[in-house]
Amino acid sequence: MRNTILQELHAEYEQRRAENERENAQRRMQAEAACPEIGQLLEDRQNLILGSLLGILNGSAAAEDIPAKMDVLNRRISSLLKARGFPENYLDPVCRCPICKDDGYVGEPIRERCECFNQAFYRRMYKRMGLSESTEQTFDTFDLTLFSDEKLPGKGYSQRELMNAIQKTCRQYAENYPDVPVKNLLLMGQSGLGKTFLMHAMAKQLIRRGVNVLLISAYKFHEIARKAYMTGAGEELETLMAADVLMIDDMGAEPLMENITIVQWFNLINERQLAGRGTVISTNLMEDELRRRYTERIASRLMNNMQCRLIQFAGEDVRRRNA
Ligand SMILES: [Zn+2]
Repeated sequence: MRNTILQELHAEYEQRRAENERENAQRRMQAEAACPEIGQLLEDRQNLILGSLLGILNGSAAAEDIPAKMDVLNRRISSLLKARGFPENYLDPVCRCPICKDDGYVGEPIRERCECFNQAFYRRMYKRMGLSESTEQTFDTFDLTLFSDEKLPGKGYSQRELMNAIQKTCRQYAENYPDVPVKNLLLMGQSGLGKTFLMHAMAKQLIRRGVNVLLISAYKFHEIARKAYMTGAGEELETLMAADVLMIDDMGAEPLMENITIVQWFNLINERQLAGRGTVISTNLMEDELRRRYTERIASRLMNNMQCRLIQFAGEDVRRRNA
């Protein structure tokens, strides 16, 4: 997917540069038609640039007065443009990004992607991944003030303090994976406590770091698993198995189908653990509900804190609280 998007963007930037060229040529024609002297000045400027380049190559001509001459020409062009009702900078090269001039890359000799290119790239990655295209749901927009700062019942800390600790854990995971103490996370707690938000924030951060992440709903996983079982076509399932980090949102919301659901969940979790690949799962179910629904075999994989880190959310639904 990365390469496809890169190819698309390279083609789009190339097209944009061609459009810029056309626009530049058209503007020049308009300006010259309105004022032939501008055409002459532009030619003089071109010759000045060429002359200075040749001078440098030959090691001859003193290049000191070139900037001053250039300045005179530029000012004359600007004032003529203005006098003919054009904006002063009408003949400056057209481009959308002044930093890379729509090249998409900056830097010499080491070329790096321009910020405009990176943003376009990640926007597209997020979109293909089904993540929100907006910049919402990142660690930077995670708002702790949405959570109550009153002590949680029976606890020595507030929901806000808990969420602060949780978001730090999630951020550390996303910033350091695969260099993390435990590669599997289970985000547990009722809905409206910020689990999905933090999953999306983690996914985006991992993508930015070049990690191959997939984020799907448990419902979608069930669909894929069912299809693989019914038709024997396991391609999609293999894609899930192969992702560096697989995130499955809302385990427990998918239908439970005999012979399929439990077996496929177990295979998925087990194979990924054996392969040393990270799996992040969120669920609204509590521990005993997980055991009942998915059997001890699966629950024990998720509850074994050597293999899977349990992140327990608690408190009030933020949507209700801030409604
Ligand atoms: Zn740029």
